[in-house]
Amino acid sequence: MFAPEPPDLVQLARITPSIYEAGLTCLAKAAWYALGGHGVLPDNPAAILGTSFHEVVAAAHRGTLMAANHSDRTPARQLFDETVRTLHKKAHPLVKLKFPIPERLPYYNLHRERTSIIAAHIAVSRLSTGSPVETLRASTSPVRTESRLCSKDGLIVGRADHIDGKSESVVDYKSGYVVGADADAVSDSEARQLRLYAYLAGENGIYVSKGIVVRGSGQRCELPISPAEAEAEANSARTQLQTINAAVNNGAVFSDLASPSPQSCKSCVCIPFCTSFWASVKPEWSPGCGSHVEGNVIDAESRLIQGVSLTTLSLAVRSGTIAGQNASVEQIPSDWMKIEDDLPCSGDVVRVVHGRELEMNGNTAVVRIDKAMTAVWRLRVDTSRGDE
Ligand code: SF4
Repeated sequence: MFAPEPPDLVQLARITPSIYEAGLTCLAKAAWYALGGHGVLPDNPAAILGTSFHEVVAAAHRGTLMAANHSDRTPARQLFDETVRTLHKKAHPLVKLKFPIPERLPYYNLHRERTSIIAAHIAVSRLSTGSPVETLRASTSPVRTESRLCSKDGLIVGRADHIDGKSESVVDYKSGYVVGADADAVSDSEARQLRLYAYLAGENGIYVSKGIVVRGSGQRCELPISPAEAEAEANSARTQLQTINAAVNNGAVFSDLASPSPQSCKSCVCIPFCTSFWASVKPEWSPGCGSHVEGNVIDAESRLIQGVSLTTLSLAVRSGTIAGQNASVEQIPSDWMKIEDDLPCSGDVVRVVHGRELEMNGNTAVVRIDKAMTAVWRLRVDTSRGDE
């Protein structure tokens, strides 16, 4: 599997809440969100379940998902299963190799049950308030679910999970698991997103005075939002859009926009191809950023273990969060590395992202794979630091 090229930068016509959030720590990451090719990188498997969660919850809000009572979760489960199946079919080949059937995605049943509980609750609440099916409402309806909203100047667009003008609220559903006290409060990032949605609602004639986050566990947190706060967030997003476009006008390329740091690069999808990351990353980044290593392949040894071909790569470390001079990346399913080409061999340069560093064995770091997250990327041409 070859590392993709960074996107060619072009002017952005508009900014979304997710581009804005990415750009607060790294404008290159924002550019990828805006311009990166869909399906080029394997999604986190949790994203498939998260998207399905949103689909089912939206159907419940629209009135297209029925439930006889709070315990009637079958319709929600069925829609969840169908949606996951559809998304799984379109998933990156690496995701399908790791999880050949959707039900094997990590925490599938947990997400399915949480989704069905929340969706059944919404569907029953709609019935009890006599709300009509949303698709039949007039366009002036103060209720919007997953509707694309655009600012009057066309520069900001977003799709809020649910906006209810009657209760003056915008609701954002979160499928992810948040631990401890953080689950009780709206995070800074969630607050920014809610303010932008409140702004977009206002621009479309729906007054919103509060944001609500509903977590997968059912926990709710609220945030008051004033018109001034919503407008300030929108202006900040516009400024970021102008900054990116000014850089593009001046001929910037992807790496010119990059701001590598443990905080900004944590969980960034661009790590496989981001030369700025590999030029900056240090072993000290490991606690916050995970285990990543770039190295020259010294040896690739494959063995059949219980009928599965597993390959251990011995690397001379060039860069990464690994402290050793060498790394042994153990027992990688060989198929994961044969999606576009044959196995890496001596002399190739590879990047192993989101591994698990286990221990040091002399000067060699032992790295194991994480089934959900690890990927091995080969570099087509080693231009990372101009040293060939
Ligand atoms: S890996 Fe780091 S520097 Fe590169 S785009 Fe992502 S956040 Fe920016």
